Amino acid sequence: MNELYIECKYIISGSKCEKLIKNGAILIEDNKILEVDKASSVKKLLAGHDKLIRTNHTAIPSLINAHTHLPETLLRGICDSEKLVNWLYDYIWLFEMKMTKEDAYYGALLGCLELIESGTAGIIDQYFYVESIEQAIRESGIRALLCPSVFDNTPESGSLDNTWKSVSKFLNTRCSSKENNVRYGIGPHAPYTVPKEYLYKILDLSSKYSIPIHIHLSETKQEVEENEEKFGMSPIEYIHDLGLTKERILGAHCVHTNKKDWEIMKTTDFTVLHNPQSNLKMTSGIAPVYKYIEQGIKVAVGTDGNASNNDLAMIEELSTTAMLQKYFSNDPKVMQNETVLYLGTISGLKTIGIESSGISKGSVADITLLGLDKSHSWPQNDPLSNIIYSSSSSDVTDLIVNGKIVYLDGKHQFLDKEKIIEKCSSISSKILTEMKK
Ligand SMILES: [Zn+2]
Repeated sequence: MNELYIECKYIISGSKCEKLIKNGAILIEDNKILEVDKASSVKKLLAGHDKLIRTNHTAIPSLINAHTHLPETLLRGICDSEKLVNWLYDYIWLFEMKMTKEDAYYGALLGCLELIESGTAGIIDQYFYVESIEQAIRESGIRALLCPSVFDNTPESGSLDNTWKSVSKFLNTRCSSKENNVRYGIGPHAPYTVPKEYLYKILDLSSKYSIPIHIHLSETKQEVEENEEKFGMSPIEYIHDLGLTKERILGAHCVHTNKKDWEIMKTTDFTVLHNPQSNLKMTSGIAPVYKYIEQGIKVAVGTDGNASNNDLAMIEELSTTAMLQKYFSNDPKVMQNETVLYLGTISGLKTIGIESSGISKGSVADITLLGLDKSHSWPQNDPLSNIIYSSSSSDVTDLIVNGKIVYLDGKHQFLDKEKIIEKCSSISSKILTEMKK
């Protein structure tokens, strides 16, 4: 049995991140939290557990990055100042067309390093080369909901039809297994890139295995206008009309939505994957997240890929989420601190498909520890406020995923950081050189 005792100055506990325990402790057995309370009470239960004494730290439920394209780490910093169309055609897709399966594997490993160092226990990913990503995730010890992209003209399979064949073959071999750390969905890129007949096939596969559909929706105004012109309805109405919302929908972005869309999002199993920094950088707009929350529409937060963000840092994404919605609603009362942390942690884990009540008795043991030694953590008038607005990803010292330590006092337990960084630097510069030829 895997047994672990963690002692912390503060623990953000409760199924809505609503409870603060001072001088607390967490007892873990296998992958579950057996007890969480004041350290003085938990200590009585302690017998032979490994100990992590972190008395100058805060424990939070682990962060979950709800929308990534993991191998895009290789594209970090290649283009920051182009309009979406030029950005895609002249940089991103040109680079991706030269990416091999092995390149994607190393890119995904670099993503895992970054996720772990910033306290993130899991991702919801959509990309090609899914087997490379799967391998990297398994080696890293973190979780993922992997949704292979269905998209035309990928470097992996070429045409849309070939991509569909390889994606459905992959999912047919994986979907019957019930693993804890790696789960599967299907990722039609967007309604404007995947024709109707393939969306129907995707729906059938999703129904067959009860797996979610992870799709980009209503990211830009132009996309919504074109959809209205072509089909007489918004992208969300369109996928609803095709029947896709019979299954679980993970809708990335949902920036430009209307009241009819909200009705669909409310009455179906729909989760918005909100990526504020990517939306700001690509000038796509601001998603009305405070309205989604008001209406009970589910929301989880992600970063989007490194090509558009350019990092996977969830704590910074959460402060952006909060500040942006306060500005957008013109109401500083929206986005209470508990809600913000919930969106980046427990909500993400539930979206992966794992029931969680955060750092609470009986819940799955995904825990992130942040050190309090930096000046920005003092004074500690409100430890939760400090996490959202003052802390940074570099405060993360330890990460526990499914009861296992994957990052201990700033050291990776399963990944060779130096080798991965070296490999990714050379892959990235090799591709950039080829692109210039
Ligand atoms: Zn995306």
